[in-house]
Amino acid sequence: MDTHTAGRRPAHHQDDDAPRPRGAALRLRGVAVAYPDGSVPVTRADLDVAPGEIVALVGASGSGKSTVLRGIAGLEDVVAGTVEIDGTEVSGAAGGRPVPVHRRGVGLVFQDGQLFPHRTVARNVVYGLEAAGWGRVRRRARVAELLELVGLTELAGRPVRTLSGGQAQRVALARSLAPAPRVLLLDEPLSALDADLRARLARQIRAVLQAEGTSAVVVTHDADEAAVMADRTVRMGEGGVLDDAGR
Ligand code: ADP
Ligand code: MG
Repeated sequence: MDTHTAGRRPAHHQDDDAPRPRGAALRLRGVAVAYPDGSVPVTRADLDVAPGEIVALVGASGSGKSTVLRGIAGLEDVVAGTVEIDGTEVSGAAGGRPVPVHRRGVGLVFQDGQLFPHRTVARNVVYGLEAAGWGRVRRRARVAELLELVGLTELAGRPVRTLSGGQAQRVALARSLAPAPRVLLLDEPLSALDADLRARLARQIRAVLQAEGTSAVVVTHDADEAAVMADRTVRMGEGGVLDDAGR
């Protein structure tokens, strides 16, 4: 067994001797994403993210980076092409219904975290696990594991509104990772923070994703940040074209 891969496998996985999944964790082919007003800012996106791989997505402002993430998550309509997550097509391309957002196994982290400000750190992290129907004992263990991983164990009982921006983003990261998403999508997770903190948190995000073995796409407009966080960088080009097929 490949020890490098084994080390990146999530600690809660039961099947440590099972063969590594084949193929991509996330595969986009010819994806176009439309808004309700009829505009189609993403016209042809091809992307492959290998299991455990962290890919940075860069490109000009307005080029369609957020839109492609929203299409992957199911928040906007994919009107052409295919989106496969762990080998399952989720966009409804085959004529079926699109898989709903909460069934795609996709985690999301936004610039501003979108946390519940009056709830405690632990209550924020447990949120997705309750929604996913995890039992109480498993929930507690998983929350403790994630808080440890992002270095917030001491702050478990603090309301989120009393935290710094960097701490709040670590809560957002822990919350989105708690249900062990098959793919994590991070949309400029560090943009609201000041420069010093950004560099530190970029390293921490990479370490946390690697410890969990999470496949991820992280949007950033900072090339240095991309280099720190990701295994490789892809670029959203003009006309909403992302060309990263068949590497
Ligand atoms: P980026 O994240 O790369 O800065 P976006 O994906 O947010 O770019 O935006 C791509 C294009 O889609 C832009 O022209 C933007 O104005 C447009 N857009 C974003 N959100 C919407 C929306 N809800 N409805 C219609 N157009 C939108
Ligand atoms: Mg954006």
